[in-house]
Amino acid sequence: MPVSSPYPLVTIAYALETILAHCPPLGSERVPLTAALNRVLAEDILAPMPMPPFPAAAKDGYAVIAADPTRRRRLIGEQTAGRVAALRVEPGTVVRITTGAAIPPGADAVLMVEHTTERDGWVEIETTVAPGADIRPVGQDIAAGERVLSRGTVLGPAEIGLLAAVGQATVPVYRRPRVAILSTGDELREPGEPLGPGQIYDANRFSLAAAVTLAGGVPSLFGIAADTPEALEAFLENALANHEVLLTSGGVSMGQLDLLKPMLERRGTVHFGRVIMKPGKPVTFATLEGRPVFALPGFPVSALVAFELFVRPALRHMQGDHAWQRPRVPVTLAHDLRHDPERVEYQRARVVLEGGRFIATTTGPQGSGRLLSLVGANALLELQPGSDRLPAGATVTALLLQPPTTT
Ligand code: AMP
Ligand code: MG
Repeated sequence: MPVSSPYPLVTIAYALETILAHCPPLGSERVPLTAALNRVLAEDILAPMPMPPFPAAAKDGYAVIAADPTRRRRLIGEQTAGRVAALRVEPGTVVRITTGAAIPPGADAVLMVEHTTERDGWVEIETTVAPGADIRPVGQDIAAGERVLSRGTVLGPAEIGLLAAVGQATVPVYRRPRVAILSTGDELREPGEPLGPGQIYDANRFSLAAAVTLAGGVPSLFGIAADTPEALEAFLENALANHEVLLTSGGVSMGQLDLLKPMLERRGTVHFGRVIMKPGKPVTFATLEGRPVFALPGFPVSALVAFELFVRPALRHMQGDHAWQRPRVPVTLAHDLRHDPERVEYQRARVVLEGGRFIATTTGPQGSGRLLSLVGANALLELQPGSDRLPAGATVTALLLQPPTTT
């Protein structure tokens, strides 16, 4: 008698919607600016002060009165960046000034040093200057109270610099989800150890830990569990304690020892157990005591593609990132392609920018176990069912995992 899965096939859109509903943004924490790179801002930031906070010189030169007709003016002192002297510019006088220095009272323009000659305490003025010239007025760059950054922004060098510029030593960011990662399978061994008959090395725990880190999560590696209920129970028990997300690979197909789905069913709620996609069809999503559990298929490519489609969006969403989706762009196929006629298929490809167009080339045989098909891939081609082949020159949608290179 044929065995059929009790789990209905759901669409990718349904799966994603279900996942996001169970993966709301985590709370926030304050981190120093030096630890803020790539974190997601948890609050709007309003500038507590204007920038610049005082009228500042934009050039090296002399602070002058623009309307002063005197050609030869007396130098009454110097005001450099950060050093404020008690000076007042009157008609017939100037103050030497450097870029970034406060403009002394009385002056309303800066005359560039290039248009002057200074000798024995006197300055020859060789040109005229407009009021306000080379002065950066208070609040020119940022007004006091202005919203300079919005919640949900990913912090890069410019954003971190801006926070420092408005005086913030720490920044409120969303917490990073802690992700417990388990590989399952009696056949799996640790890299570095000798292989016995029928054994292979565990690849998924390491690829998934790297993917979690890139997605902003904090991975904890829980080792390899044998295909026994006890080993899986022990993982769930231990991991639930201090992780927001549980991530397993293997043990979700239709084999005798694919024990994860029934176990998740007993202990929590399985929201879906199969998705209409290739690779990654048996990907399973459950919640256990309110925590999301992703049970990915064991084939190394299936595991990473399912991670990319479902786990990465969840981790970004939990970190408050509005841009939790990868960019999707139209690409032109460099060659003919065969694909699955019934399921959306994600084929690994290299996309380059050539003559103003994105051109996609396959990374070779697309077997679910062939990790080499993901090595060097910067895109997943999203091939819709309905046909089983596409000609060279056809336009398809690609999920960009990394920016395309130029030829
Ligand atoms: P499963 O989903 O457990 O049926 O596994 C599907 C295939 O992926 C089998 O050939 C497994 O040996 C292989 N596999 C499962 N887990 C891993 C892993 N962590 N690393 C490498 N291959 C794996
Ligand atoms: Mg297995």
